[in-house]
Amino acid sequence: MKRLNIEFLPLNTSKWKCRRCGCTDDKPCRDVYGKPCSWVKPDLCSECA
Ligand SMILES: [Zn+2]
Ligand SMILES: [Zn+2]
Repeated sequence: MKRLNIEFLPLNTSKWKCRRCGCTDDKPCRDVYGKPCSWVKPDLCSECA
């Protein structure tokens, strides 16, 4: 049986919230270029990783 990698399954991130800066899908924080952050973990965004 092939093992699934959950990292690459399509995830519903709408309920995710960064535990460090508190950003969400609706209100992402921005990097220095003004680009919205992405998710590294369900409770950690790319800006805080
Ligand atoms: Zn964050
Ligand atoms: Zn963020």
